[in-house]
Amino acid sequence: MAKLKIWRAGERSEALCERCRGWRDTEFQYRTVPLAASRKRVDDVLVGVCLACDGIASIPQQSAARLRAIAAAAGA
Ligand SMILES: [Zn+2]
Repeated sequence: MAKLKIWRAGERSEALCERCRGWRDTEFQYRTVPLAASRKRVDDVLVGVCLACDGIASIPQQSAARLRAIAAAAGA
């Protein structure tokens, strides 16, 4: 079983940013993230922030799993 990297705030990576449409450097930071299927917002989610546009460029596996659990609990 492949071991997933667990990211920490302040670490750098790169990702394809949908907002500014390019491959950008990112830094992992805690942000408030809207859940896709509802109006609910989740505080303190570790995401990859695009250093070019300050948008959310990536959501690491560890955060995606947490968001899914919260969405399921909310019935979304
Ligand atoms: Zn961007």
